[in-house]
Amino acid sequence: ESVLVTGANGFIAGHIIDGLLAKGYQVIGTVRSTTKSEPFEELFKKKYPNGKLTYEIVTDITKAGAFDNVLKKHPEIKVVLHCAASTAVGGTAIEDMKKIFLEPALEGTKGILTSVQQFAPQVTDVVMTSSVASLCHDFYSLPAAREFSAKDWSTGDWDRDVGTNQLTAYSLSKAYSERYAWQFVKENKVNYKLSTILPSVVVGPQLLESKVTKQLNLSNQWMLNMVYSVKLDSTEYANEPFFTIVDVKDIVNYHILAFENPKLRGERIFVSQKSSLTPQELIDLLNEKYPQLRGKIGKGDPNGKCSGLALIKFNMDEHLKAANYKLVPQEETLIGMFDQYLKHHTLD
Ligand code: NDP
Repeated sequence: ESVLVTGANGFIAGHIIDGLLAKGYQVIGTVRSTTKSEPFEELFKKKYPNGKLTYEIVTDITKAGAFDNVLKKHPEIKVVLHCAASTAVGGTAIEDMKKIFLEPALEGTKGILTSVQQFAPQVTDVVMTSSVASLCHDFYSLPAAREFSAKDWSTGDWDRDVGTNQLTAYSLSKAYSERYAWQFVKENKVNYKLSTILPSVVVGPQLLESKVTKQLNLSNQWMLNMVYSVKLDSTEYANEPFFTIVDVKDIVNYHILAFENPKLRGERIFVSQKSSLTPQELIDLLNEKYPQLRGKIGKGDPNGKCSGLALIKFNMDEHLKAANYKLVPQEETLIGMFDQYLKHHTLD
């Protein structure tokens, strides 16, 4: 069976392709240029000498009909995993938030769904990578304890809420594009099931060692920032919950389960640990596991109590049960990421 993966050179999509090839799927990945796919091609050739993998170039996913040629060229595609979206949060101020965040998310989603509709009636499943950000765009200002369900939707409004806030722009781009997708399958007669995967903060090693740069991709960088947020001689921030995380392996598995498992097909599935990680938990783990870090990273206040965001809960029990699935334990996730990072860099 053939699977199309958009944004194939991304952190998550790279791992998804690995997972698909390991299961014997034929994979077609879209990237913006060959320089983005070449290192992956090289890696996968070595890892799966008999694997069937092709990369196609889609230079601009916001252009109408951007995916037409790929779908026409590959009538064997049965499953579409739409992972491409801009995650360019952080760094310098962005002048045109719509162009950077909203357009790739929304036009990209519109584009892939329209092309499938026109040129790929054989497609049985479309799985879209959304985000818990589409449940709520401002978790940090929730007034009270809250357990989220797949029925929740962000109430954020682009014109009212974004301003210069990149995280809000990203969050709303995810909510708007996911909402668009559900609306599309409601309004059009489609031959496939749509499922959406809503990860929290996805953590794990980079597939390519060359991507283990000092500054990591957004979600893993947040783990580094959490360590740096607790200064050596201070307990400040240590017990302020960050957010929930999830292992990239779980995200891979749920993208695949979303089209393989009849109980998950057509569902909106958030995939996350239940409750927030605190910097304290992270530095406790690092101080214990990596003696070379002691004295170089903060110790925080191991007996401190956390509050605030710890009130957020993501309860995905129903979708765990449906697949008889257990999430990777949080500590294992963090160690997976830091083992790799610390081979290349120090934490200072
Ligand atoms: P990456 O930034 O590593 O990957 C994003 C992918 O999308 C890349 O292939 C990138 O291509 C492509 N892309 C970005 N902007 C554009 C654009 N304007 N036009 C065409 N392609 C574009 O991010 P992740 O792997 O972390 O994210 C993958 C998906 O998962 C996204 O949809 C993201 O929103 C979602 N997600 C991620 C979470 C996380 O914690 N990592 C959490 C929740 C959701 P290029 O390299 O050419 O820019």
